[in-house]
Amino acid sequence: EQEVPTGPVKRRLGVMGGTFDPIHHGHLVAASEVAALFHLDEVVFVPTGEPWQKSQGAVSPAEDRYLMTVIATASNPQFSVSRIDIDRGGPTYTIDTLRDLSALNADADLFFITGADALAQILTWRNADELFSLAHFIGVTRPGHLLTDDGLPEGGVSLVEVPALAISSTDCRERVANADPVWYLVPDGVVRYIDKRELYRGA
Ligand code: ATP
Ligand code: MG
Repeated sequence: EQEVPTGPVKRRLGVMGGTFDPIHHGHLVAASEVAALFHLDEVVFVPTGEPWQKSQGAVSPAEDRYLMTVIATASNPQFSVSRIDIDRGGPTYTIDTLRDLSALNADADLFFITGADALAQILTWRNADELFSLAHFIGVTRPGHLLTDDGLPEGGVSLVEVPALAISSTDCRERVANADPVWYLVPDGVVRYIDKRELYRGA
């Protein structure tokens, strides 16, 4: 057999950051679709750390959000979950997520997957230049949010249309609080976990 000389082939690693309070099928479809379109080897879901101060609209404990993310992704061999933002502690800044993940994955090119709503805020991020040097950004459609590359740096961001799922974590939390079903909006195991831990009941 003949060896064909090639440069080092870099792994293609998707990064899906989020509060995941709870993780829902909108997150999962977006990650799956981007993984296929961009030929990613893996997508790592990165639940955010807990904010320093519990203000109004406090998020659920990091450990619950982490476990729901694990439950939701466990059956997909391409999906994994990172504790990096949770273990760092405090509020999460995307620059820290990407710095840490690129240091841990020197063999990989990073693709940061983000919804249209979050993408709109990228321009306001402080370390925008460094962010774009650490990862390629992929903005995905989200119902109710316009997907536009107005003002985004050329080449640093790809915009993709994913099957639009009008699901949000906020709506899921409100449904649980109102005793409305969240079946089929989130994975079955996540429905059961929310029930077991009595999450979102007093919202
Ligand atoms: P919340 O309502 O609490 O803000 P959320 O549904 O927006 O929750 P996040 O954890 O904030 O979920 O989102 C993580 C990432 O997933 C963000 O980049 C967000 O834009 C994206 N995202 C969330 N829901 C969808 C969806 N239905 N379709 C595509 N992307 C989504
Ligand atoms: Mg959100």
